[in-house]
Amino acid sequence: MSNDNGKTNGKLVIISGPSGSGKTTICRELAKDPRVRVSVSVTTRPPRSQEVNGQDYYFVSEREFEKKIKEASFVEHARYLGTLYGTLRKPLEEAIEQGLIYLLEIDIQGALQVIEGYPDAISIFILPPEENVLKKRLTGRNTDKELDITKRLEIAKGELQSSSRYKYHVVNDKLEETLDEICRILELKN
Ligand code: 5GP
Repeated sequence: MSNDNGKTNGKLVIISGPSGSGKTTICRELAKDPRVRVSVSVTTRPPRSQEVNGQDYYFVSEREFEKKIKEASFVEHARYLGTLYGTLRKPLEEAIEQGLIYLLEIDIQGALQVIEGYPDAISIFILPPEENVLKKRLTGRNTDKELDITKRLEIAKGELQSSSRYKYHVVNDKLEETLDEICRILELKN
C-alpha cells in the first residue's frame, strides 16, 4: 500500500477460515514478529473463560456497538451466530501509516467489505486438511456448546464455498509449514 507522498505504507492482511481451522493460532504466531500487529475486534459476544478484554476482543453491549456503527468507527462489521463483530478503523489506519503488517482475523462477510474498501488488501483463506479434523478441533476446544458446534460446522461449509474471493488459499495441515507459506506471501522472511 502506498500513500499520497509515494511513501510505502504497511500491509493490510485478511485471514479467514472456518471456525477450528487454526487461524487464531496462526495470527498469534505471526504476531511474534515485531513487524506484525493483530487487530483487536469489537464484539457483543460474552468472553470465553481465558479471554481478556482489550486483548482478545473489546467486549461491548449491543447498544455500544450500534453507537460505534453510527460514529463510523468500523471499516467493516458483521453478524455471526447472532453476535456482532467489527474492525476498528483508527488502529488499522495508524498501523498501516506506521508501515506495519496489520492482520484482521475476520469472517467472510467482513472480509468482502474490506476487500471492497481496500483493494490492495492481501486476503488469505485458511483451509482445514479435512472436515473430520475440523470437527475434532472444534470439539476439542470444549468451550462451545454442542448446538453451537453444529451451527459453526454449517457456517464453515458455506464459507468454504464462498472462499473464491480470497487471493490465497492455504491448507493448515502442519502449523510450521503453514506459517512458512504465509510468511512467503507476506514477504516476512528475514
Ligand atoms: P469467535 O467468536 O469464535 O471468536 O469468532 C467467530 C467468527 O467471527 C470468526 O470467524 C472470527 O474470524 C470472526 N470475527 C472476529 N472478529 C471479527 C470482526 O471484527 N469482524 C468480522 N466480520 N468477523 C470477525
